[in-house]
Amino acid sequence: MSLLEIHVLGSSMLRTETNPVTEITDDVRRLVEDMFETMRAAQGIGLAAPQVGRLERVAVVDVDNDPIVLINPEIITEGGSERAEEGCLSIPDIYGDVDRSARVTIRATDLQGNIFEREATELLARAFQHEIDHLHGKLFIDYLSFLKRRGVMARWEDLKEKYPSQRRVLTAPAPVAADRADEDETQ
Ligand code: ZN
Repeated sequence: MSLLEIHVLGSSMLRTETNPVTEITDDVRRLVEDMFETMRAAQGIGLAAPQVGRLERVAVVDVDNDPIVLINPEIITEGGSERAEEGCLSIPDIYGDVDRSARVTIRATDLQGNIFEREATELLARAFQHEIDHLHGKLFIDYLSFLKRRGVMARWEDLKEKYPSQRRVLTAPAPVAADRADEDETQ
């Protein structure tokens, strides 16, 4: 597995439509593994392929230690409305209130090639909607009012200086498990 660079706001990848996956190849499996590792290193709960510079229609989500692979996902039913604060690994340090459907049912393919459906509410429903948006070039800031979005873009003008190549380079988290093993040995 390897950590991937995350494209940030301004990268054209984030505005590009993805291509449906027609076959679960080793390449797709490796991409999914790397996306989980990258998402965890960035302490996110979801990540979509365009965020790591890839155009396969693939996203990963992990809310409450329940890792879900979404290949060619789509929302098949939705209802209700809920407003909550949202952020994005591709727009670090920017947050905004977004109205989303309160309940969704999605249909997607898993890594074994099986089609599955999954109902979700609350944070998982929001994560599904946010990641599926990414697969169609859409970002959460698109939902903000004109004024709020203008404020966000003004803040981003300063923040983006940190990402001259429009990429976030992550560092691997400290190997906590290895440290624990060492401690056990000394006891
Ligand atoms: Zn995002």
